[in-house]
Amino acid sequence: MSLNRFFKQYLPEEEFISFSSEKLLEFGFNRDNTIAGVCLCRDEICQSVLFHIRNQWGNIFNFASLGGFYNLGKVGLEIFISHAPQKEENRKCLIYVFTHIGIDEDGNLGVCSRKGIRESTACGALILLHKEISTGLINTRERNFEIDAIRNRLERELSDKIPSLLDITKLTLRATCEDIEKIMENSCSQSGNLSYGLISGIQVHYRGNNYIAPEIAYVSLNTQKINLIML
Ligand SMILES: [Zn+2]
Repeated sequence: MSLNRFFKQYLPEEEFISFSSEKLLEFGFNRDNTIAGVCLCRDEICQSVLFHIRNQWGNIFNFASLGGFYNLGKVGLEIFISHAPQKEENRKCLIYVFTHIGIDEDGNLGVCSRKGIRESTACGALILLHKEISTGLINTRERNFEIDAIRNRLERELSDKIPSLLDITKLTLRATCEDIEKIMENSCSQSGNLSYGLISGIQVHYRGNNYIAPEIAYVSLNTQKINLIML
């Protein structure tokens, strides 16, 4: 199975969401006292994970952008935080972050199938970016605000080595988690009564199914960070 070549660990997305929800429950996060936000690509083949998250957590705050990159800045997260239930003195937020990639049975990265399309590609935005980074050719005529934001952010992360599509997928995910963490930690230390969980992974499209390969996952309770093991 070519999935094993690229990821040590992964779960079907429904199991990943159930498992992460159980973990968060152990730290006092539940459907009634927590607001959930999701940072996910706009691509229709990603959206199935939202169904499972809504099943566990109710309606979600949607941070969607191409590539699953977070680009709503401090204000976006402040609005989200302000929607956290006031049921308890310590308010709770949960953020899921996913980037995504297709892989075929031969291990080709970026390949997936879609409704009515046997051979398609994912993530389109990150594939475009990967092409630009590997060739050094940027399309300056047709700019796109969301892809430009990822490119600008990744410039800080790239080394001299040309990254693979999977490297770009991981870098985008980690940069997104880092940016969200900075803003959330700041808000937590200012408010003094805010806890949050951040659960992230790469959503992998393989043989018509979606899996999640876990990445950064932790809860921050009154600014104390506790890492979670997702498998
Ligand atoms: Zn995408």
